[in-house]
Amino acid sequence: MKYKLLHTIFVLCSVILITCGCSSLNQSATHETQQPVIYAIKNVNIITMTVKNQVLKNSTVVIRDKKILSVNESIPDKAKIINGSGKWLLPGLSDMHVHNLADINFSKAYPTKGATLLADTQNFMLLYISNGVTTVFELSARVEHFGQRNEIVKGKVIGPRIALAFLIDGGSGSGNIANTPSEGRQTVRIAKAQGYEFIKVYSGLNIDTYKAIIEEAAQQGMKVVGHIPNAFRGKIEEAFVPHFDMVAHAEEYAKESKDFSDTDAERFAQLAKTNGTWLTPTLTTMESIASQTHSLDGIRNLPYPKYVHPLMQDKWLTANNYNRETEPKRIARLNHMTSFNLRLVQAFKKAGVPIVAGTDAGVSGVVWGYSLHDELELLVKAGLSNEEALASATRLPATWLGIADKIGTVETGKFADLVLLEANPLENIKNTRKISGVFADGNWVSKEKISTMLKNLEQWNIENKDRFLWKKRSDY
Ligand SMILES: [Zn+2]
Repeated sequence: MKYKLLHTIFVLCSVILITCGCSSLNQSATHETQQPVIYAIKNVNIITMTVKNQVLKNSTVVIRDKKILSVNESIPDKAKIINGSGKWLLPGLSDMHVHNLADINFSKAYPTKGATLLADTQNFMLLYISNGVTTVFELSARVEHFGQRNEIVKGKVIGPRIALAFLIDGGSGSGNIANTPSEGRQTVRIAKAQGYEFIKVYSGLNIDTYKAIIEEAAQQGMKVVGHIPNAFRGKIEEAFVPHFDMVAHAEEYAKESKDFSDTDAERFAQLAKTNGTWLTPTLTTMESIASQTHSLDGIRNLPYPKYVHPLMQDKWLTANNYNRETEPKRIARLNHMTSFNLRLVQAFKKAGVPIVAGTDAGVSGVVWGYSLHDELELLVKAGLSNEEALASATRLPATWLGIADKIGTVETGKFADLVLLEANPLENIKNTRKISGVFADGNWVSKEKISTMLKNLEQWNIENKDRFLWKKRSDY
């Protein structure tokens, strides 16, 4: 299995792009940041997503200065009213495993050169905001991602909150490599000094270096997420050291099972439970990879690629590494893995291991923002209740990231990251797709605004399709 190689290729490539002038939202974002507006959502059903998950029918929420000012209290005179009748309000959604497109140099570098492909941050972040995703966890962060985040923080772009994890691998590849415990510790200290908030451990690390990285990260107050390195093959239990805080894919476990048995699923769940290691299953990615290994029709027929930058559309169809390995044995194994992943989630739920929603968005065919709704459906298919699936994308990510006092529930004093839905997601998880509007850091983005922006983005992608061909990327 070439997961590591494939994933590395994708990480290296999932860093890209976009030059598109989409100034209308930028202006309004800046404007709204300068002159805080008070909003009141009236007569809305609030799904608070607190631990007790109270649902408050026909309620009023007031938003001021980026925060929820009050719930079911008086409405200030100047408030702009949003009619919430028949609608459902829940906390903004989180995707806990993404790879964002950002500026990159695809050709030969020289001092002062900079990137050759530039990412329009607003166009890219629109994919999240239009889907109600207001927090994302970037799992192979680079300096360009700090830049993107600052554009959002400055109010130039409406986008999600972004947590940044610094990826450390072993072996002889490119990127941040550590092959001895002292290199591992030093790499963690450098990441901390540069402002990264989390560490991601990767498949090629050797055992001693992996353990040293996790120990150092704990000393630096950085939580650790990641893969279970290949060096632990056959002795997975040794990877569960204190402060290994989250496994980034269900298949990190699936790879360790010879027969994909329920006994293995339960054994893995116990390991995670005992060690306090959470799980981001990324069921969507595995399903998508399995489908692409079989055929690219799934990507051709996806409803969303029209919003994806033309270079990535071209890459997914013309340079698809998953589709190059189509032998029947591999397809059969991937199919076994996708079904095992669902049973694994159920075993983890039974064992009481917290599960958070993540998609690995940026992998070919896994579209930023849209994929989170696919993931929620798959989590429910795996056996989570609708409420548990919603918690996996709201309160629990906030808790793992250490910002549960700021986001993740609808409560007075929390940041106004909210999704207004036209139907109740507690009745049917598919209803998370029926978005009527989104508050991102107190900025209201209505359904109409979203649809205009998406139309503009689609138009730009169509007009610029021929300019961005994957095989010519180094010519830019
Ligand atoms: Zn990933």
